[in-house]
Amino acid sequence: MIPFLDLEKINSRFNTEFRAVLNRVLISGQYIHGEFYDSFCKNFANFCGVKYALGVANGLDALRIIIKAYGFGPGDEIIVPANTFIATVLAVSDNGCTPVFVEPDIDTYLINPDLIEEKITSKTRAIVVVHLYGQAVDMVKIKELAAKYNLKIIEDAAQAHGAYFRGQRTGSLGDSAGFSFYPGKNLGALGDGGAITTNDPILYEKCKAIANYGSDYKYHHIYKGVNSRLDELQAAFLDCKLALLDSDNQRRRDISAYYRANIKNSRVVLPRVLCELSHVWHLFVIRTTDRANLMKYLSDNNVQSLIHYPVPPHQQLAYAEYSDYSLPLTEMIHNEVLSIPISPVLEDNEVDHIVDVLNNY
Ligand SMILES: *Cc1c(COP(=O)(O)O)cnc(C)c1O
Repeated sequence: MIPFLDLEKINSRFNTEFRAVLNRVLISGQYIHGEFYDSFCKNFANFCGVKYALGVANGLDALRIIIKAYGFGPGDEIIVPANTFIATVLAVSDNGCTPVFVEPDIDTYLINPDLIEEKITSKTRAIVVVHLYGQAVDMVKIKELAAKYNLKIIEDAAQAHGAYFRGQRTGSLGDSAGFSFYPGKNLGALGDGGAITTNDPILYEKCKAIANYGSDYKYHHIYKGVNSRLDELQAAFLDCKLALLDSDNQRRRDISAYYRANIKNSRVVLPRVLCELSHVWHLFVIRTTDRANLMKYLSDNNVQSLIHYPVPPHQQLAYAEYSDYSLPLTEMIHNEVLSIPISPVLEDNEVDHIVDVLNNY
């Protein structure tokens, strides 16, 4: 079976380096916020092209802390894409804010910038853009709207480390961004991790304090904060992996280009991309109206596939208050999408096998 994602194979490339940094952390005696944490935050900020990166415990925390730091809460509305992973929406509702769903563009599956303005009210405070599946959102119109209505732009960059929009990386495209280093992401730790990036020194200091029990200096608490830290050891592993991120993303682009050129099946809709560098192919998502059968056929032919995601946030039990909402494009996408293997360690012969199998369906 060609696995959907072989994490062991991805990480065993760093076997020697991981053992070396593990040893250094072990003997340093500094297991939280030591030199590796500082180094990774600095390197990740440089990578994204921003002034500040703050390591936190996971991607959901990164987004929750950003919204808290802006002071958004009950009575405030935040625009979110309807087509996303539920964490985007949880970060909003966890702060007591109301998520306002916007349908995607059917070509990119990303939030449709032309449908945002009609959702803006006097209560709207921010727009969350999600660079879903690894593709950077077109920011031009969204930036105009944010300026016109005085809204913050928060990026959910959990799936798009290293993607560009017009020469700038995700993490630097809005006012602030949340990243996840969950093991399966393009930059993944050996456990949980996340980061906040921003160019705003005030927001950075506030997020830093909130993530540290609301403390600005030791034992003085100015906010009702949380405890959200990126472990020293995870930061050390991530620092090793950051060095390969651009070449890993390029391998994903090459596989994607090969798939898009060679998969020829009228029952399969391939993903489209406007600009190669805008996508880092966290997922290669195809669509078919015959998903259950295609999944079984792929599995019978030794290809593991997964669904991202089977149920949209507004149809989840957790958001029963939205159960009468109709978001037809989002619902159609959730019914038809299927993700096939893509990763920096997928071999050429595996890619060829996947193409052959899909073309013979
Ligand atoms: C993974 C993910 C998150 C959450 O990240 P965690 O580190 O798992 O908390 C948020 N948004 C999107 C789009 C994601 O894919």
